[in-house]
Amino acid sequence: SDREQVVELSGVVKRYGNFTAVEPMNLAVEAGAFVTLLGPSGCGKTTTLRMVAGLAAPSAGDILIKGARVNDVPIHKRNLGIVFQNYALFPHKTVFDNVAFGLKYRKAAKAQIAERVSRALDLVQLPQMADRFPNQLSGGQQQRIALARAIVVEPDVLLLDEPLSALDANLREGMRVELKKIQHQLGITTIFVTHDQSEALAMSDKIIVMNQGRIEQEGSPEDVYTRPRSEFVARFLGNSNLLDGQVTARDGNALRIAVEGLGEIQADSEGTEAPQNGARLRLVVRAEKIRLSSTPQDKTDATRLTGRIETVDYQGQSARYFVTVGTHSLQVINPIDRRPFGQGAEVSVEIRPRDVVLLKPE
Ligand code: ADP
Ligand code: MG
Repeated sequence: SDREQVVELSGVVKRYGNFTAVEPMNLAVEAGAFVTLLGPSGCGKTTTLRMVAGLAAPSAGDILIKGARVNDVPIHKRNLGIVFQNYALFPHKTVFDNVAFGLKYRKAAKAQIAERVSRALDLVQLPQMADRFPNQLSGGQQQRIALARAIVVEPDVLLLDEPLSALDANLREGMRVELKKIQHQLGITTIFVTHDQSEALAMSDKIIVMNQGRIEQEGSPEDVYTRPRSEFVARFLGNSNLLDGQVTARDGNALRIAVEGLGEIQADSEGTEAPQNGARLRLVVRAEKIRLSSTPQDKTDATRLTGRIETVDYQGQSARYFVTVGTHSLQVINPIDRRPFGQGAEVSVEIRPRDVVLLKPE
């Protein structure tokens, strides 16, 4: 695309002694995009963000903001908005003074400060809180003030490191929506760090999945979710069944794959390199892509297997099952029509060819 790249990492490495926290990393963040670094604890997300912020120096490589190399530019000259989990509000300053901090630092005029702080507080929907102190606010309100403080300076980039993780579950979901809304309204280029896959899927334009200091895969939420390219990504995002099989027949993109102990499955290799007859493959099938029914449905091109319900985990509008099929135990998540299938019930198990993701065996 021809949109401006606001942040670029080129061959960026971070070493601590002889431990490499971030392997040579290349990354480009487009103007206005909401990009998420997603991965398990310790994979290098915070280290990457700290290098963009100027809180840690890269061991190698270049960091560019709006096209200019910033490796040697200190944090306060990078024009960033930062909300880190442990980047607390100043406890002895009022909400107004907390939010005004960056503007005062930049020696903005008094009237302008008043106007912009009031706009920022409106945006995070806490206009009446200006005179309070942080300890007079709830955790969620404090987090919104931290966000107001970050955006009030109209930064080139907003850096968010697990900003919602200290909030309880209900509040976190609400804040997710609000944060995304504010980011969208302002069109502010954002790098967001989380280990929470549902947060990443809900909020991002683009997800960078990281593992052990490396980028495993990047793409839109739909892309990384529906087309994982590695076992790691398949396991980390969502509930996946992994099966080993061998191609027994191939007709264009249509494949038949024998899975030992399960039977023959039909798959579709569209969008991937078509494997040869006889090739061994690893398959991923998402738990919610497998459809259970009491009687086989005739009209689809799906593979139909027979299974028996092993366990039922009732979740309200859906249920999670383990279903025995041959010698396998498949995880299935299905919406509940009237009532969930009971333990021991015999069910028809249907898998559509396009829902079978093909991986190379590792
Ligand atoms: P994440 O944010 O993905 O959980 P971090 O970027 O914080 O991961 O850490 C990545 C790896 O680098 C971890 O193994 C961590 O222990 C290590 N690490 C981070 N900071 C330092 C440091 N200052 N000194 C030594 N090792 C560090
Ligand atoms: Mg971290």
